[in-house]
Amino acid sequence: MKALNLVDYHIHTARCGHAEGEMEEYAARALDLGLKEIGFSDHFPLLHMEDETLSMGLEEMPLYIWEVGELRAEFPHLPVRLGIEVDYLPETAARLPSLLSAYPFDYIMGSLHFVDGWGFDDPRNLDGYVGCDLLALWTRYFELLGDAAESGIFDVLAHPDLIKKFAFRPDADVSRIYRDCVDRVAATGVAIEVSTAGLRKPVGEIYPGESFLRLCFERGIAVTLGSDAHRPGEVGERFAEALLLLRRIGYGEVAVFDARRRSYLELPV
Ligand SMILES: [Zn+2]
Ligand SMILES: [Zn+2]
Repeated sequence: MKALNLVDYHIHTARCGHAEGEMEEYAARALDLGLKEIGFSDHFPLLHMEDETLSMGLEEMPLYIWEVGELRAEFPHLPVRLGIEVDYLPETAARLPSLLSAYPFDYIMGSLHFVDGWGFDDPRNLDGYVGCDLLALWTRYFELLGDAAESGIFDVLAHPDLIKKFAFRPDADVSRIYRDCVDRVAATGVAIEVSTAGLRKPVGEIYPGESFLRLCFERGIAVTLGSDAHRPGEVGERFAEALLLLRRIGYGEVAVFDARRRSYLELPV
């Protein structure tokens, strides 16, 4: 297999309650693929609800961090970063900075899985789409994404257009919504994630879509790359397609992080 000279910055662990496999298996898979670097970014505990199938509890955080450290020792030839994926909700955002500052993260990713209390990407909550005003939903989602960027909490916004996951799209032109959001993100300097997870979801498309990503490129927004792996076999999944998309748009590098300092890795040709 040709080595993937890329990084995967979005990998989960079984601690979140909906992922499988040992952390060693994820790292071994990355080595097999020839990835240059990986980052674990498991779900940070949700502050607005308790659901052990969605995230670890706060009391597990030290163990998670210890395990990433152990893995570094076990895989000396694979740089392993300590990341975290944190849900952005306006009602809990103020509590995040002090909670997150207790841990030595290399990067903090912000995600939106909830819009005004509705876990819109959870297959258990699909009934919310019945009779839903999709244009209003998308407008609100991308407004919240802009808020997340402006909160100053995050280094990266994960799967930026996750709202398309189930392929329910407004029957309207959303380019203005995208532009307003991307302008706000660009002004903050926060990076966005290019995620292949969307390819294995009903939408069957990389997050974000090409038109959104093109706007990001034009505004100088940096990108990270991730699979959102919830099982070892998903590490680096379909990265060749992500690379093609990035190259087609004009991106020549991806962002990498060390102790929340950003640098860049050149994309292979
Ligand atoms: Zn997850
Ligand atoms: Zn994730």
